[in-house]
Amino acid sequence: MSFAFDGTRRVPPAVNEPVRSYAPGAPETVRLKARLDAMATEVPEIPVVIGGRRIHTGDVGTVTMPCDHRHVLATVHQATPALVEEAIADGLAAQREWASWRWEDRVAVFLRAAELLTTSWRDTLTGATMLGQAKTVHQAEIDAACELIDFWRFNAAFAESLYAEQPLSDHSMWNQQDYRPLEGFVYAVTPFNFTAIGGNLPGAPAMMGNVALWKPSQTAMLSAWHTFRLLEEAGLPPGVINFVPGNAAAVSDVALGHRDLAGVHFTGSTGVFNSMWATIGANMGKYRSYPRIVGETGGKDFIVAHASADVQALAVAMVRGAFEYQGQKCSAASRAYVPASLWPEVRDRCVAMMAEMKQGDVRDFSNFVAAVIDRRAYDRLAAAQAEAKRTATVVAGGGASDATGWFVEPTLVLAEDGGHRLLCDELFGPLLTVHVYDDARWSETLALVDRTSPYALTGAVFARDRAAVRVATAALRQAAGNFYINDKPTGAVVGQQPFGGARGSGTNDKAGSKMNLMRWVSPRTIKETFAPPTDWRYPYLG
Ligand code: NAD
Repeated sequence: MSFAFDGTRRVPPAVNEPVRSYAPGAPETVRLKARLDAMATEVPEIPVVIGGRRIHTGDVGTVTMPCDHRHVLATVHQATPALVEEAIADGLAAQREWASWRWEDRVAVFLRAAELLTTSWRDTLTGATMLGQAKTVHQAEIDAACELIDFWRFNAAFAESLYAEQPLSDHSMWNQQDYRPLEGFVYAVTPFNFTAIGGNLPGAPAMMGNVALWKPSQTAMLSAWHTFRLLEEAGLPPGVINFVPGNAAAVSDVALGHRDLAGVHFTGSTGVFNSMWATIGANMGKYRSYPRIVGETGGKDFIVAHASADVQALAVAMVRGAFEYQGQKCSAASRAYVPASLWPEVRDRCVAMMAEMKQGDVRDFSNFVAAVIDRRAYDRLAAAQAEAKRTATVVAGGGASDATGWFVEPTLVLAEDGGHRLLCDELFGPLLTVHVYDDARWSETLALVDRTSPYALTGAVFARDRAAVRVATAALRQAAGNFYINDKPTGAVVGQQPFGGARGSGTNDKAGSKMNLMRWVSPRTIKETFAPPTDWRYPYLG
C-alpha cells in the first residue's frame, strides 16, 4: 500500500556542530585513542560497491599511513572499466525509485547519517582521517566530524528552502516549479585533503534526487570507505551512491564518455579539472543533456598586511594559515606581503612560533604538524625547498625526512622578486613565501597580489586602518572567492562562509550552500489554467 504524507514538513534547524577540544585526559580523548590503536591493527579490504554488492576484483592496491609509510592501513580493490559501466547502469536503475521519493524522505537519510556521525561513528571517521590522511586530532575533528555533519544538516535545510521557492500565481492559474533531479548520473570525484568533501560531493546531488558514481581519492580511501559505510547504515538505498575506487583516468574515461553523464562534482587540482572539462567538450555529441560541471580547484592564497596591522595577530594567522595540515588545504596561506616597517617583528615572531611547533606522528596529540600525504607530495615539496635555498632566502625550516613518514618541515621563505615562482604556483605544502614591500607602495602591492597567480580562492587583509581595509577589499574584489579581514584565510565553516573561488580556482558554486544544490536540479515549470479560454478570437478583433 502506498502512503503519501500530508502536511508541510520542516527539517530540524541546522546548527553548526560544536568542535570538541580533545584536551589531555578528556573522555573523548581516551575513547579516540583507543579507537586509533584498534584501527592501526585493522586492515580492511575495501571493495568496489555497486547496488550494495561488494565486489573484489583482485586488482589490489594498498593504503598506507603518511606518518609511517611502511604501515599498511587497508587494501583496496580497483574497479575495471566494465565495472564502471555496470555501476552507472545500476545507478540509473536505482534513480527511478530514489527520484520518486519525497525530498523529506531523502534528506532524512542524511540527517540520520549526521546524527550517527556525531555519536557512534565519530571516532571511526576522525581516526581514519588522522591515520590515513595525517591530520592532527583538531584538523580531523573540524573536517571529518564537524564539517561533514554540517554539510549534511545544512544542505537538508537549504534543500527545504530551495523547494519552497515557487513562482507567482493568481486566481485563474496555478504555477508550480517541480525541482527535478538531473536526467542521468552525477560523477563525483573527490580529493585527498578533506573527508568532508568526500561525503559532500556525492551526497549533495543525492539529496536532490540524483544518483552518484563516487570515485574517491586513493590517498583518502580509508575515510571514504567508512563514510560510505556510514551512509549505508543511515539507510541510503543501494545504488544511489556507487563506490568505485580505481585508476582515475580509467574510471573517468568511462564516466565522461557516457551518454547519461548529467553532471560532474569535482574537487581537486586545476590541471585535472581542466582535463576533465576538455574531455567533456570533446564528447559533447555523445550526451543526452548538457552536463553540469562543478569543480572547486587550486589556490595560491594570500595574506596582505598593511602597515597598521596588529603584528601578533598577523604572525599567528601566517603560521596557522600556512602550516596547519601541513599547508595541504586549498585555502592555505602560501604567500604573504608584509610592509618593510613590520617585517623584522613579524619575522621574529613567526620564527619563534615555528620553533615551538612540534612535528611528528598524529597519534602523539602534542604534534601541531604531521606528514604530507605521499611520496609525490614529498618529492615536490623537497624540490621546492631546494629551489628556495637556491633562488630566495630560507628564513626558517627547510628540512625534510622520508625515513619513517613523509615529513616536510614548515618553511618560511623570503622572496625579493614579487614575481618569484614560489609566489605564483600552488605548491600544496608547508611552505610560506613572503614578499616585503615598501610601506608607501600599498596600492601597487595590492595590484601585485591581484595579478601574481592564476588562482582566486582565498585571501586575507590585515589592517587596523579602516581606509586601508576598504581599499584592499575593493582592489582584491576578484582575487578571492573567500576574503578575510583580520583573520587567516583558512577554516571556512558551512553556513557561515560559503566556500569557493573563481579564476583558476573553480566554478565557485559554493559548497555547502543553496547555490550548490541548484546545480543538481533541473526545474520543470508547470502552468495549470483553471478556466481555459473557449473562444479563439481576441476582443481586439472586434
Ligand atoms: P588531484 O587533482 O590530484 O585529485 C583529485 C581527484 O581527481 C582524485 O580523486 C584523483 O584520483 C582524481 N584524478 C586524478 N587524475 C585524474 C584524471 N586524469 N581524471 C579524473 N580524475 C582524476 O587533487 P588532490 O591532490 O587530491 O587534492 C589537492 C588539490 O585539490 C589542490 O589543488 C587543492 O587546492 C584542491 N582542493 C580545492 C578545494 C576547493 O574547494 N577549491 C578543496 C580541496 C582541495
